[in-house]
Amino acid sequence: MNAPHSLPAAATPPQHFIGNRWIAPAGGETLPMIDPSNGEAFAAIARGNAADIDRAVMAAQGARDGAWGRLAPVEKGRLLARLGRAILEHAEELAQLEARDCGKPMKQARADAAACARYFEFYGGACDKFHGETIPYPAGYTVLTWREPHGVAGHIIPWNYPLQIFGRSVGGALAAGNACVVKPAEDACVSLLRVAMLAAEIGLPEGALNLVTGLGAEAGAALAAHPGIEHVSFTGSPPTGSTVAREAAMRHCPVTLELGGKGPQIVFADADLDAALPVLVNAIVQNAGQTCSAGSRMLVERSRYEEVLERLGARFAALKVGPAFADLDCGPLIRPGQLQRVRGFLADAQRDAIATVAKGTIAADAPASGYYVEPHLLRDVPAAHRLACDEVFGPVLAAMPFTDEADAIRLANATGFGLVAGVWTRDGGRQLRMARAIRSGQVFVNNYGAGGGVELPFGGVKSSGYGREKGIEALYGFTTLKTVVLQHD
Ligand code: NAD
Repeated sequence: MNAPHSLPAAATPPQHFIGNRWIAPAGGETLPMIDPSNGEAFAAIARGNAADIDRAVMAAQGARDGAWGRLAPVEKGRLLARLGRAILEHAEELAQLEARDCGKPMKQARADAAACARYFEFYGGACDKFHGETIPYPAGYTVLTWREPHGVAGHIIPWNYPLQIFGRSVGGALAAGNACVVKPAEDACVSLLRVAMLAAEIGLPEGALNLVTGLGAEAGAALAAHPGIEHVSFTGSPPTGSTVAREAAMRHCPVTLELGGKGPQIVFADADLDAALPVLVNAIVQNAGQTCSAGSRMLVERSRYEEVLERLGARFAALKVGPAFADLDCGPLIRPGQLQRVRGFLADAQRDAIATVAKGTIAADAPASGYYVEPHLLRDVPAAHRLACDEVFGPVLAAMPFTDEADAIRLANATGFGLVAGVWTRDGGRQLRMARAIRSGQVFVNNYGAGGGVELPFGGVKSSGYGREKGIEALYGFTTLKTVVLQHD
């Protein structure tokens, strides 16, 4: 087992990061950070409250109206690119923090650290390339549109991909010229405290980036309700998304909601199974299935259904689960409640006679106090069953057969979600017909990127949310448009 370096003490202070300084929580309280690989506390974070959020918003307002706001786009871009480089230089340390905090295998944590760096590189390059337009109008007028930052942007981040989601959300918001107040998740966020330190070290003006840690119902709710927050970017569960959007709506504050998913993987009889099978496994096992864009449903054309189940079953049976630093196929779930939730779904499958084709194995030396569950491949899951409709957020793949293209479309669209879908077919016409017919923010054809692609606009329809992050598209959401009409002679 790959032992982690000892955690740098300064990376996990139980304090907030406000105005490039460590600030003790106003309430004086801390929260333990639990390592899901063994259930033990390994660090503490500050328990933020409304007073801490208020302080962070004031620091961000200072940056908005001061050094950060006045900085030329090219200089903003240089700073973001420099932060991306610093993240890359500290990628191994950040990956170790993330692996311990989230329980994800090191290879996944390393990929997440690299993706975080890439967001800052990407958005650093975009700072001085995003601009308004001129609009044709009668003679004697000139009409301009300007893309202006909202001002102070609030970010509420979940625990499943702290580094990646921070990078995409905060990277885009800073590039658009906003100053940011971030409320990361109470279950996992120590890597982000380290990134905040790096941001100060590379010279990001004070107040441009502020982190207040703590509970959702306390610090999170205070951020959503704060009158000084001028845009909220929320990534998390649909019910919390509704709560945050309701709060923000009370003061007409714009919101981006990145919520859950129930991604269908649609395998037609003409698919290249050698290419598809490893991707199908990875799309549900990545981060132990705790991925909004996980491919958690598999729809297979009936003529090859048994073959796909047999071949995929062999792959599931070979999957190994264990501690993050053992770097196996799958790590633990984030917390005991999540383990209970996934076990509840599996108990329902048993009760309703939904058969398990195959399941993986928990390593014999995995600590009994860790939150482990075996990846499961389930077959003939009825389309109306909650295993086919609800987000399990665990490594459970629900398989079902379909008869033809129309049936595949019906099943693919049969959930309340619409985030990411995969289509596997060699037929070019069908590729486009399916891509059009599936109600989803992203459709992958003959590949699947659970969360991948910094350049690719990402977001949902239906209960998967609204607004887009990632790519250049995100910059539209992180700015507001001003139209200027000049009349001259
Ligand atoms: P969650 O909604 O419980 O928590 C997300 C964040 O919201 C955390 O920081 C939490 O502290 C905060 N929060 C909780 N209650 C709050 C409140 N009342 N007011 C303000 N903030 C509050 O979600 P989770 O369990 O941490 O994450 C899992 C969910 O996130 C899944 O549904 C998953 O699909 C979704 N997710 C979506 C994406 C995406 O990009 N679409 C990415 C990752 C996760």
